[in-house]
Amino acid sequence: MENEPLVKNYDSDEQDVRRRLLADRTISEPNHDKDSQSTYSRSRSTPSGDEKDDSIDTVLDVPTKCVEQAKEVGKLVVQYVVDHTHLPHWLLDNEYLVSGHRPPMPSFNQCFASIFRIHTETVNIWTHLVGTLIFVIIFFYLVTRPSSEVPIEKKITFGLFFLGAITCLLFSTLYHTLSCHSQQVSKVFSKLDYCGISILIIASFIPWIYYGFYCEFGTKIAYLLITALLGSGCIIASMWDKFATPEYRTCRALLFMAFGLFGFVPTCHYVLLFGFKYAFTTGAAQWLVVMALLYITGACLYAARIPERLAPGYFDIWFQSHQIFHIFVVAAACVHYYGLCVLSMHQPNFNDCRKGIAPAISNVVNSVFN
Ligand SMILES: [Zn+2]
Repeated sequence: MENEPLVKNYDSDEQDVRRRLLADRTISEPNHDKDSQSTYSRSRSTPSGDEKDDSIDTVLDVPTKCVEQAKEVGKLVVQYVVDHTHLPHWLLDNEYLVSGHRPPMPSFNQCFASIFRIHTETVNIWTHLVGTLIFVIIFFYLVTRPSSEVPIEKKITFGLFFLGAITCLLFSTLYHTLSCHSQQVSKVFSKLDYCGISILIIASFIPWIYYGFYCEFGTKIAYLLITALLGSGCIIASMWDKFATPEYRTCRALLFMAFGLFGFVPTCHYVLLFGFKYAFTTGAAQWLVVMALLYITGACLYAARIPERLAPGYFDIWFQSHQIFHIFVVAAACVHYYGLCVLSMHQPNFNDCRKGIAPAISNVVNSVFN
């Protein structure tokens, strides 16, 4: 909220120029700031007999036109981007991206307009914006199916996964869009971005543990509790101010990788319970492995900043490590969704358990909604 006056100032370069040139008049008219725009409009549209106003307007017309023309040329030629060396300290993140950076733009309108311009964040924004839209469509398709087609427990568990994926991708999109707004806004959205990663990992565990340990009620609850605890730890770490700084890049990658790799524990448990063959057919464990490989590869490239480290300046706009990481995150979430579909498709195999020892959650939920 405290940035609002700044936003208004930066929204109009023309107004800035006029304000500077009208500095003399400000001294004699202390309330000028309150209605500078209306003063400007009045003096421009209804010339009074005041010679001072007329001369100021004449003088102002030239620089105003120059600013307008410079803006038009700027849009076509430099498109509001600067080199890494011209960025303020809070926008310095990756020195291997040499040019094409957005300068600070303390206006939400300008930040959102920059989605449609080419700069170092364009692909980062679009990869997760498209991912968000894909998962929103699948989520609404799933929850609007009749219960006879998609059971309510599947709607809830899969729905939580989709909500986690949507939250993660949306926070990421917002962060990459608004990171150049101001230091405060960048800080808030970078924390949300990292929280989103933890939320996606938690949401990915829920349906897999639910269906994987369908009949093992105690095991299921234990794993879900551990997941919630580890996820909460990651979210708390994300709230730490220094966590988002470039020095902690490797630490961030390792923390989220460690949380994701915790999934190795229930997977091994699953293999021990049901056998290797069952786990890698009915249990769809192979898709968990593919998902893990995508996340790990993406996180390693992100931490090492490859390929831009190998050829600084060549990957400023396209194919930088963060973009590859983003694509791998969306791909991993899609792979996980496919694996969950395979796992839940074999649900009839659990019918005995449903009728017998562990009806718990599913039966309670079904009795409430049916
Ligand atoms: Zn990102």
